[in-house]
Amino acid sequence: MAASTPAPEILAAFEAAKGFMPVDEGLALYAAARTAGLLGLPLLEIGTYCGRSTLLLADAARASGVTALTVDHHRGSEEQQPGWDYHDPGTVDPELGVMDTLPEFRRTLHRAGLEDRVVALVGRSPVIARLWTAPLGLVFVDGGHTDEHANADYEGWAPRIADGGLLVLHDVFPDPVDEFTGQAPHRVHLRALASGAFTQVSATGSLRVLRRTGPGV
Ligand code: SAH
Ligand code: MG
Repeated sequence: MAASTPAPEILAAFEAAKGFMPVDEGLALYAAARTAGLLGLPLLEIGTYCGRSTLLLADAARASGVTALTVDHHRGSEEQQPGWDYHDPGTVDPELGVMDTLPEFRRTLHRAGLEDRVVALVGRSPVIARLWTAPLGLVFVDGGHTDEHANADYEGWAPRIADGGLLVLHDVFPDPVDEFTGQAPHRVHLRALASGAFTQVSATGSLRVLRRTGPGV
């Protein structure tokens, strides 16, 4: 079994970074990424934002000798737009007046010395998924929280998970929390289990780790 905690300086960078993942879930994500890293295949995230969770995938990728990929259009989800609950005014491009989390993401990775381990894919997740055919060791779904986005992420990326690879879902709330967190990730979780292609490995907070154990995603 691979060592399953990130380097202390990476954990500190994670805690300091802008984003939406608590430490206990981050540690579970890191452990999953180390396990998946043993397959020798890339680890992919949907939902980069400012790079908080990307730091952990990147550190696991470094330890495993693989590459981390992270997908985001960097214009923010619905609930992160100006005037909404999860908006951070610091993420707005002053010239354009629209959200742009790419600069802060790049600062986060650069400060942590992890730029070399990460390939950022800037664009809409379903568009990139249609172009992507290579097998993946891990897919971490943390993008848009509408049913449309969550289902598109699952349909676009889950088929690329190699046999024995991991599907990690964030923001799975079996009970409604508020109008923004929503339950689309919960419905995708049920869908993945019902497909017969995945077996649950662990649950930490709103994070679910599933292993690909069969065909028919
Ligand atoms: N993983 C991050 C949080 C991600 S927030 C952390 O740990 O802090 C969700 C992100 O998904 C936002 O940055 C938003 O721009 C992105 N997103 C939402 N829908 C998307 C889509 N269809 N394609 C690409 N990115 C999307
Ligand atoms: Mg999330």
